[in-house]
Amino acid sequence: MPDIERLSINLATIREQCDLDAATRLCAEFGIPWVAPWRDQIAATGLARARELIRGRGLRVSSVCRGGMFPAADEGGRRARIDDNRRAIEEAATLEAECLVLVCGGLPEGSKDLPGARRMVEEGIAAILDDARAAGVRLAIEPLHPMYCADRSVVSTLAQALDICARFPADAPLGVVIDVYHVWWDPELPRQIERARGRILGFHVCDWLVPTRDMLLDRGMMGDGVIDIPAIRSMVEAAGYHGPVEVEIFSRDLWWRRPAEEVLRTCIERFARAC
Ligand code: ZN
Repeated sequence: MPDIERLSINLATIREQCDLDAATRLCAEFGIPWVAPWRDQIAATGLARARELIRGRGLRVSSVCRGGMFPAADEGGRRARIDDNRRAIEEAATLEAECLVLVCGGLPEGSKDLPGARRMVEEGIAAILDDARAAGVRLAIEPLHPMYCADRSVVSTLAQALDICARFPADAPLGVVIDVYHVWWDPELPRQIERARGRILGFHVCDWLVPTRDMLLDRGMMGDGVIDIPAIRSMVEAAGYHGPVEVEIFSRDLWWRRPAEEVLRTCIERFARAC
């Protein structure tokens, strides 16, 4: 199979240049078979129209970004998050996504109770697992780099994500996404990727720039940073994952300022050469 058959563009990568209509049109023109829309992009287009655009252009959805964000300061807040996750599951089902990415959430406002926030994550996942199963949607916990622990994800390592998976029945529609940006530094990574066998629902690539000038919006194009992406990809494939490889780059000062065509051309070229 030519490698491009596995390329997915996470649509955050060209979010500043393109709405869902333009992004899917360009990906189809470039022969990119997979896309990963964000929920705000789906909402802006409308779910039914998003499905039409994606399917009409022969594209498939590697993931919907994102569910999660479970911890909240009070019961009402936590319930609202769970309801929102149920809507995310519906969207992922409608788009026949390979998985719904869970960015699990950080500390509730004003809280320093990290163990408590981690419990809320597990309770949140437990609350939506039956909905996911009924909808035929797989939930994919994406551990985030520890620098996001306070505001985005109290699940920071692949080991933690797999520990959560292990607390649910083996046949639960629950697994992990491995994003090189978040886990490349982890000395446990080889062992945990092997441990993730059968649980890997997605693989995300970009690069870690030195210096990184913004915690969120300065991700690099593959090949421009210090992550040994081919080495991590080999481990992920040796652990049995052969699904789409999603390019996900938030780059306020570089790639979001370039024409989308140039970004996609570069993604294709670097995917072939640096992944
Ligand atoms: Zn990711």
